[in-house]
Amino acid sequence: MSSNLKRVSLQRKMNNKVQCFVCPRKCVIPPNSYGLCRSKKNLDGTLYEVNYGLVSSVALDPIEKKPFYHFYPGSWSYSIGTVGCNLKCEHCQNWQISQAEPERFLYLSKLSPAEAVAQAKQIGARSIAFTYNEPTVVSFEWVLETAKLAKREGISPLSVTNGYISEEALEELLPHLEGANVDVKAFSDDFYRGICKVPSMEPVKRTAEVLKKRGKLVEITYLIIPTLNDDEEEIRKFSRWVLNELGPDVPVHFSRYHPMYKMRIKATPPETVRRARKLAIEEGLKYVYTGNLVGDDGENTFCPNCGRVVVRRYGFEVLKCNLTEGNRCKYCGEKIDIIGRCEIERRWPSIVL
Ligand SMILES: [Zn+2]
Repeated sequence: MSSNLKRVSLQRKMNNKVQCFVCPRKCVIPPNSYGLCRSKKNLDGTLYEVNYGLVSSVALDPIEKKPFYHFYPGSWSYSIGTVGCNLKCEHCQNWQISQAEPERFLYLSKLSPAEAVAQAKQIGARSIAFTYNEPTVVSFEWVLETAKLAKREGISPLSVTNGYISEEALEELLPHLEGANVDVKAFSDDFYRGICKVPSMEPVKRTAEVLKKRGKLVEITYLIIPTLNDDEEEIRKFSRWVLNELGPDVPVHFSRYHPMYKMRIKATPPETVRRARKLAIEEGLKYVYTGNLVGDDGENTFCPNCGRVVVRRYGFEVLKCNLTEGNRCKYCGEKIDIIGRCEIERRWPSIVL
């Protein structure tokens, strides 16, 4: 059997059909057919992940690019993308890989979990990020194995995810994951139905809430698209959900949209992104950022107590850390909710993979 096939652990046999339990769609898949994510296939009544160990992109990225702003600022994250996705967002920025069929996609390299972790270790990455398309869901078996191995080697497994994962799959992954950036695409079921082609956003909210309750690092990204999800009341409702269900310390990244894939709406005016940040701060969130606005004041971490800049950034670079031991504000002593040491002057490793 081909090495890019792995039996899916979360499945149920239904005569010759198979039901997949990795994502909330819970596709019932006839013989020789795929689930909607096109990464799981029913072969003779058994469900297989068909892109096991097939990666489309591997890069050493600044952790800030994921984005994670509150986890070892200034560190490197070994970032891996595969192929396929369980959402069909009209504005997907990685649609070439997320909407491709794994078995017909030509630009894939083989990478075993052990090889991925060895590379990440060799190159000095602090973390390993499952990112770009939606590896956490569509390459679940591979991500699970890689996360286990990474953790054993002292490399932090992080997921950059749409959060559209089943309770069972999340539960299985949780012990091996250190954190996630959950993409909240809007704060309405209408948006998820109309733009992402799934019935509801509830699983996304649940994923973020479960992660936080179980003590994982959680950051949230919200891409602001004019007229679709930039309404003041929606931003306020979203912010109140973060505040009440996740906590005021959870970082939120309001990111600027650019036209992509099938969406033709013009790019978000920077002012709209800044306004969203202001609204979320008004609602009580402590760490709110603007994204895709290089040089904006909203890239910095401000001390929630004295208002001074404690981490100064430019793009993905960390320019200055005004934190004392234990990540306290050097001006007023306030505890800043950042995990790990902040490094400035990140250097490229001298190793070539
Ligand atoms: Zn302070």
